Amino acid sequence: MQAKGNLYSIVQHQLEKAAKAVNLSREVATILSQPKNEIIVHFPVRMDDNSYRLFKGYRIQHNNILGPYKGGIRYHEDVTLDEVKGLAAAMTWKSALHDIPYGGAKGGIKFNPRLHSKSELERITRRYTHALGSNIGPEFDIPAPDVGTNAQTMVWVMDTYMNVVGFHEKNAMRRVVTGKTIAAGGSYGRDTATGQGVVHCITEWARDRRFNLNGCSFAVQGFGNVGMHAAKILAKLGASLVAVGDYKGYITNPEGLNTHKLAEHVAATGSVEGYKHSKPITREEFFAVEADIFIPAALELEITEKEAKLLKCKVVAEGANGPTIPEAEEILLDRGVDVLPDILVNSGGVMVSYYEWLQNKRSERWELEEVEEKLEKRMKRTYGHVRDFAAERKLDFRTAAYAIGLGRIETAYSERGIFP
Ligand code: NAD
Repeated sequence: MQAKGNLYSIVQHQLEKAAKAVNLSREVATILSQPKNEIIVHFPVRMDDNSYRLFKGYRIQHNNILGPYKGGIRYHEDVTLDEVKGLAAAMTWKSALHDIPYGGAKGGIKFNPRLHSKSELERITRRYTHALGSNIGPEFDIPAPDVGTNAQTMVWVMDTYMNVVGFHEKNAMRRVVTGKTIAAGGSYGRDTATGQGVVHCITEWARDRRFNLNGCSFAVQGFGNVGMHAAKILAKLGASLVAVGDYKGYITNPEGLNTHKLAEHVAATGSVEGYKHSKPITREEFFAVEADIFIPAALELEITEKEAKLLKCKVVAEGANGPTIPEAEEILLDRGVDVLPDILVNSGGVMVSYYEWLQNKRSERWELEEVEEKLEKRMKRTYGHVRDFAAERKLDFRTAAYAIGLGRIETAYSERGIFP
């Protein structure tokens, strides 16, 4: 395992680079340099053996000038304050880039969810929600799934939150979280949204580059919500998944891996490891694999200088948040590898979260086709904005994406000022 950098300082570095490119006012840069609220809670949970264990949970509310705080909840043993701060800031830029009326937030609990039973996970989630209390809310701060959490987790958050408000308000509280199951008020298309959004960006990139996706090859790091759906959708377009990896290990098959069968294997065993139509490879071999497209969809800071030199792809489409460190991005760009940044590429999730929230607010249920059509239109429109802005100002895509988001935030601050 390599030592990881600090996500928050990397996000800050990217902010400063974009701020310089668009001459962001010092006042706005100062406001954005720290999150508005940093909430840390410690809460006891009863384990299955009746013992009590104390957990540490975070909720970082980075900015809400454009709308309620919005961002996922992560369950992972490596969660730290700086990681959650970095992820929360990225949510602010992401919402602003897409002109979604939300701010940015992120939450997390530092523990390994794989080591707990379903009933322990339920109690951990409900106790965390209760500990956060009114620090979340349907018009204030709206969580969603992230690494280690899923639709079931969101339903537990929703149910806990709903049950501490008055009877009359209960149903209006559904939208306190997004990414719920359909039965609990989730949206059609939310489960696939982030992966679908990744593929919309790759499709736009391919169109601009006159690159044929049919028959090309790709590799994916992480085969969870984002990686698995992105792989399935890209495979449908005729691209071939030649290598994949997760927390347990990496596998390859130059002839192509069947994404549906692989997903069944992961559902049954918890990992891609041991999939029978494949050969195990090392992490290093995985990054050096011959593939046209590389999709990081696991954790942040996975592509350092070393991996950047190994990668043989034409494009890196960042499904994960913060997977590429700045020095690695420079190497990739110098080598002529395009880098499509996280706040653009993985934003399908927050986009459809917004649609879910709107449906709940209006007591509506939208058809899957309607959700998918809206998502495609918005992803492609934002992709076009970033591409054109980057070309006009001679910026890389990441700086252009940040700059567009920052521009919207700056306008809001310059019109509203600070109260009182
Ligand atoms: P997930 O928990 O569903 O899947 C994570 C995957 O990464 C799993 O396959 C896991 O085994 C793998 N992984 C974990 N640690 C690893 C390691 N050290 N090395 C290699 N693989 C490892 O999570 P997800 O929701 O798919 O999120 C993945 C990334 O996408 C994260 O960066 C997350 O912040 C980002 N993201 C998620 C969403 C969403 O809607 N779920 C939206 C935007 C961005």
